[in-house]
Order: sequence, then C-alpha cells, then structure tokens
Amino acid sequence: MSAPRPPCPPWCTADHEFLASCTSSGSPFFIGSDLTATMSAYARRYPGAGVEVAVNGKLHLGKPREAEALAVLLEQLADATPGQHRDLAGQVRAAAALLGWKEEG
Ligand SMILES: [Zn+2]
Repeated sequence: MSAPRPPCPPWCTADHEFLASCTSSGSPFFIGSDLTATMSAYARRYPGAGVEVAVNGKLHLGKPREAEALAVLLEQLADATPGQHRDLAGQVRAAAALLGWKEEG
C-alpha cells in the first residue's frame, strides 16, 4: 500500500489514474514536414521527490537504434524554425516559473 499523494499543485494537469507524477501541460509541436519528431517542455513533481523542468523530444520511428535516433533528432532540430526554438525556450521558462524558479543572474 502506498502513501497518500499530497494535493496537486495548481499547475498540475495530470490524469493520476495513469500517471503518478504531477505535470503541467506542455505544447508539443511537430518538427519536419514528415512529422517524425515532437518536442515539448513542462514542470513535473515526482511523488516523494523534488521538482524539475522536463524537456521531451520524441521520435516517431519504427525500430531505431539509439545512435540513429539521436542523429535523426539532431537533424530535425536543425530543421526547426527559429520560432520553434523560441517556442520551446518559452515552454522551458514557463515550466520553471510554475515551479517558482527564478533565473539566476
Ligand atoms: Zn497532480
């Protein structure tokens, strides 16, 4: 039997029937004309542990080897527009702000 979960923070949008950690919602975007990669960033709190800003990069490939998948992600990032890079940076900052983190000078 596990310990009861503390109340969710106001930014949590997780469906706890399927996910133990609290997460904010990111805004995934597809990179590339063939939609083979998505990226997003969000805040996360693990049960009984700390908080973090998670950055997800997903590859939608059949059976890639790890090195090949990393190469594809890097090539996809090279194809992302400057606006998509700024959008991801904004999502990282928004997720950090949800956690009350401030930029260090
Ligand atoms: Zn939650």
